[in-house]
Amino acid sequence: MLDNALKILNIICDNGYKAYIVGGFVRDYLLGINSNDIDITTNATPKELQEIFDNACIPSADYGAVTINNSGTRYEITTFRKEISYTNNRKPEKIEYIDDLYKDLTRRDFTINTICIDKNGDIIDFLKGQDDLKKRIIKTVGNAKEKFEEDSLRMLRAVRFASNLGFELDIEVEEAIKAKKYLLKNISYNRKKEELDKIFSNVNAKKGIELLLKFGLDKELELERLKDIKNTESLMCVWSILNVTDIYPFNNTEKEMIININKALKLDNYDALVLYKYGLYINQQAGAIKGLDKKKITKLYNKLKIHSKKDLDITSDQIIKIINKPPGEYIKLIYDDLEKEVLYNRLKNHNRNLKKYIVKNINKY
Ligand code: ATP
Ligand code: MG
Repeated sequence: MLDNALKILNIICDNGYKAYIVGGFVRDYLLGINSNDIDITTNATPKELQEIFDNACIPSADYGAVTINNSGTRYEITTFRKEISYTNNRKPEKIEYIDDLYKDLTRRDFTINTICIDKNGDIIDFLKGQDDLKKRIIKTVGNAKEKFEEDSLRMLRAVRFASNLGFELDIEVEEAIKAKKYLLKNISYNRKKEELDKIFSNVNAKKGIELLLKFGLDKELELERLKDIKNTESLMCVWSILNVTDIYPFNNTEKEMIININKALKLDNYDALVLYKYGLYINQQAGAIKGLDKKKITKLYNKLKIHSKKDLDITSDQIIKIINKPPGEYIKLIYDDLEKEVLYNRLKNHNRNLKKYIVKNINKY
């Protein structure tokens, strides 16, 4: 992966520009952690990059970051910049391209995110990021309070890096979070959710939650139920307990999962009909929240006589033929009934038995 990234750097440099790998990839590489995305910083402008790379995309919302996808890796290339005019403690509205790597590094958030690798694979570390990486400490580049005033999302990023990497927060960062946490309200729910997703989906999610609670960020983030979280089995488990779909943006799949997990929470997750209706994953999540036996849930699910309507040994045409009426709502009623009887082992899933059952109960439909 590094070799491929170095090739990209060399292509940019061969065109007469400077380019370095920076940020998460270098940090994680030095820690022996794999990453999928590579950030590159360069003095080439997005337009110039587009002339070099045919497949370069410029996502409009992304402040001039150019994205290239190459053999499964996503490269995000940004031009050396100075960020000017921060409004309301969020991302800068205006940026100014500069020709100075050092200055570009000083506008970044934490020292461990400023280490660079050049086109020869050599480390460039103007701001002593490697020292802090060795000390396993999250330290801002420059004054912490000022950094958080400029962009208060950085407070959440600090928590994320501390918990995901198992690092300590520098004392100045801790003090600055306490002093500036109220500014988190100025950040869009979208950006906050992206960071929270990264905290909650990590194996160290518990530490992240502890840190958020320690600084009282649960209140600032409107996550009233954060203190109730005992189990961080999955990202969806955490969001289901928090139950904040009315304030934070979730896509439809996420929303549906959160609603279903909350419904399944109130039901018996060992019950055949509940397992059938909500499926294995949802019951496992609800079970995890309640401290139920995951293996038992999986075993009971696998033993279900049917897993979907299609598994019933009867077709809707056969049902219509028995009832002898034009298709109508009764078909669903019959299916519901058959499912329940088969799942509770009161009826064998054989075509003959199912037909007999319908005939016997014909008055119900
Ligand atoms: P990961 O990609 O693992 O989430 P990362 O550190 O690479 O972590 P990115 O969001 O990809 O994070 O950003 C790339 C780099 O850009 C960071 O390492 C940091 O140097 C800089 N950066 C990102 N967000 C900010 C910010 N809000 N303020 C200052 N610098 C930032
Ligand atoms: Mg990155």
